Amino acid sequence: MSSQTIGVVGGGAVGLTASLELARRDVAVTLFEQGRLGSGATGRAAGICYDAYVDQRDAEIAARSLDRFRELGVLTEQPYVWFARADDEVAAAIESHVDGMQRAGRDVSLVEPAAVSERFPGLVTDDVTTAAIARNAGYVDTTEYVELVAARAADAGVSIETQTPVTVTEQGTIQTADGSHSFDAVLVTAGAGTVDVLEATEFDPAVRCYRTQVLVANSAESGTIGGVPMFYDASEEWYGRPTADGVLAGDGSELYAGPPADYERETDASFRTERMAALEQRIDGLVEISDAWAGLCTATPDRDPLVGECLPGLYVATGFCGHGFMRSPAIGAAIAEQILGGDPIAGFEPTRFDGTESIELPVGVTESDAEQQFE
Ligand SMILES: Cc1cc2nc3c(=O)[nH]c(=O)nc-3n(C[C@H](O)[C@H](O)[C@H](O)COP(=O)(O)OP(=O)(O)OC[C@H]3O[C@@H](n4cnc5c(N)ncnc54)[C@H](O)[C@@H]3O)c2cc1C
Repeated sequence: MSSQTIGVVGGGAVGLTASLELARRDVAVTLFEQGRLGSGATGRAAGICYDAYVDQRDAEIAARSLDRFRELGVLTEQPYVWFARADDEVAAAIESHVDGMQRAGRDVSLVEPAAVSERFPGLVTDDVTTAAIARNAGYVDTTEYVELVAARAADAGVSIETQTPVTVTEQGTIQTADGSHSFDAVLVTAGAGTVDVLEATEFDPAVRCYRTQVLVANSAESGTIGGVPMFYDASEEWYGRPTADGVLAGDGSELYAGPPADYERETDASFRTERMAALEQRIDGLVEISDAWAGLCTATPDRDPLVGECLPGLYVATGFCGHGFMRSPAIGAAIAEQILGGDPIAGFEPTRFDGTESIELPVGVTESDAEQQFE
């Protein structure tokens, strides 16, 4: 075992993966989690994973992550279909994205709406004019991933301290209720809590939080909705994926500027009504909402995450704009490598902003919402 010690803050997909990867490289890792493992965005995620990115770097990170999910046996293979209705602008964007993704080496293509219905009879596509399919895709039960990686991390020697809220008081020092703990390096992967964890340091991460909602709608009998792919309705900006008994669906987001612990975890009545109405038109046989919840994500000005060293010996990984789970295996490995002297991921440097940039909004958040929240 090397004599190097690393403190990791946050027991979500990214922190757990990075901890395991560090421990495998013979580093002594202590992971601090304020609540339960996976109790942040990770345990609330839809678990949708694909490599359908236009940017080569993003596509490769996502593809490496999919391979890792497969190795771990947690990926349910399922194509991802996204589509537009009589909407020329959105249709043109889909065509251009497919072109870019193909250039990035991805297995995606435009597909006739009728061919989608034939392959996935559970999805109503009568009104669809343009559709695309990404074949390297699937979904993961995020709780299963957390439990598996946590068990492997513990086996590899990671000391996991749950129910332990912390702050970083200076470089290399983590403060718990019991006192200060010094490390050779500290990695903060605290999701929506990252800004607060780093408040006493000189680094102010360029991230904002937003709240997003999902629900699960069930059919009368398990397995009766027919074939449904993972899908994104690009004209109406909402997504879904199959579950054992129905469909999980979610949509846009609202900026959230309050304390991360205080956001509303229950879904809004309007969300449930609108999403269920849209689901009933898109998928036959759904009868009831069986579950629904909200969670917090983090966004950056350029929609790329902050991954890397922000002050000497202090590292951060956050700002995944709703795509952090699907990239967590590769991001966790990459930040572990970087902490041990490897190269940073070009373009993800956490210090690339000067604080004057406005945060680009994720899909579904309007400009006026943003102004109201951040004035
Ligand atoms: C409703 C919803 C659906 C989503 N769907 C998808 C999807 O389909 N695919 C996808 O790729 N991504 C999805 N996401 C986004 C994804 O969940 C996140 O990008 C990803 O989980 C981020 O992982 P993380 O480890 O960085 O953060 P988190 O999972 O948020 O983990 C951070 C951890 O830090 C802990 N923490 C915070 N403050 C402190 C502190 N002071 N001390 C100690 N610990 C602290 C928190 O308790 C938390 O456990 C979704 C998110 C939501 C909310």
